[in-house]
Amino acid sequence: MKVTEHLKQAKDQTQFTFEILPPLKGQSINTLFDEMDQLMEFKPPFVDVTYHREEYNYKELPNGLLEKQVIRKRPGTVGICAAIQNKYQVDAVPHVLCGGFTREDTENFLIDLDFLQIDNVVALRGDAVKSETYFTPNKGGNAYATELVEQISDLNKGIYLDEALQNSAATDFCIGVSGYPEKHMEAPSLESDIHFLKKKVEAGAEYVITQMFFDNQKYFDFVEACKKAGIHVPVIPGLKPISIKRHLSLLPHRFHVDLPDTLVKEIISCKDNKEVRQVGIDWCIEQSKELKAAGVPFLHYYSMGKADNIQKIATAVF
Ligand code: FAD
Repeated sequence: MKVTEHLKQAKDQTQFTFEILPPLKGQSINTLFDEMDQLMEFKPPFVDVTYHREEYNYKELPNGLLEKQVIRKRPGTVGICAAIQNKYQVDAVPHVLCGGFTREDTENFLIDLDFLQIDNVVALRGDAVKSETYFTPNKGGNAYATELVEQISDLNKGIYLDEALQNSAATDFCIGVSGYPEKHMEAPSLESDIHFLKKKVEAGAEYVITQMFFDNQKYFDFVEACKKAGIHVPVIPGLKPISIKRHLSLLPHRFHVDLPDTLVKEIISCKDNKEVRQVGIDWCIEQSKELKAAGVPFLHYYSMGKADNIQKIATAVF
């Protein structure tokens, strides 16, 4: 079932959903199932599965030259989606990136998903590869998520890249996209970012999932600003509980989000990461309760491969 159909079914009831990461290469899929088992009791209507593009490693050779190695540390997005749909009878939502894909690769990727009866995707640009500062699309690839949404929407109309393909089978993907209550790091202003978010919706996106935020007011203001700009699709809040002291610098650095002073002070005063984890859980419970009271359709949690804290939050909220 599509995310939009789950939205209709949910009516005014807030539901629990979460995002998982494919395990690191070399780990068994059972490590993922062990984490998911802790969360399935909260009956998520869908589970998002992230996509991780290639990274470049430079290995020094005996002659002093550097050899470029292209590696993917977390492959398996499509396989995991098929496996969890089969094992848990839950709708899997794979993330699809522009980065690392030509438009032809994208089309073939979408065909695989369609054949596996996966009819939800989240369309994203992706970040720059770790060794580069700015995102560069592949030759013949999509440069922005808007272009990717356009390609998926075309396939939903039976329009393939090869114009010679006549009477082609249309796919039926429900498309989600990302939104940034504190603006995307490369956007010159929130207004500009929302302008491009609207383009994604006009191209066919049916809902937005937000980047994590730790101050609900930022989410409420973002939703208002989206409405004012003419974006009327649901905006699903994404939440992540802080779990280690290092998150104080890591999350702002990596995701370009601010942490409220009260939260920062509480974390600094913790004597170890066990205490930090509890502060993170309590903060996220408060955020979740307020968002639920405001009537959001889903609360979407970033599990980042660890389920125990999300389980505690879900127990308190649902
Ligand atoms: P876009 O919507 O393309 O926007 C990128 C930037 O370009 C923005 O600043 C925007 O304002 C600007 N822009 C957009 N269109 C134009 C235009 N036509 N002209 C000029 N500027 C424009 N990354 C992964 O690698 N894998 C994942 O699975 C993944 N999942 C994510 C899930 C969520 C919910 C979120 C919020 C992020 C996720 N990311 C993931 C991270 C994401 O890929 C990065 O944040 C990336 O830098 C931007 O992707 P986007 O789709 O938001 O980009």
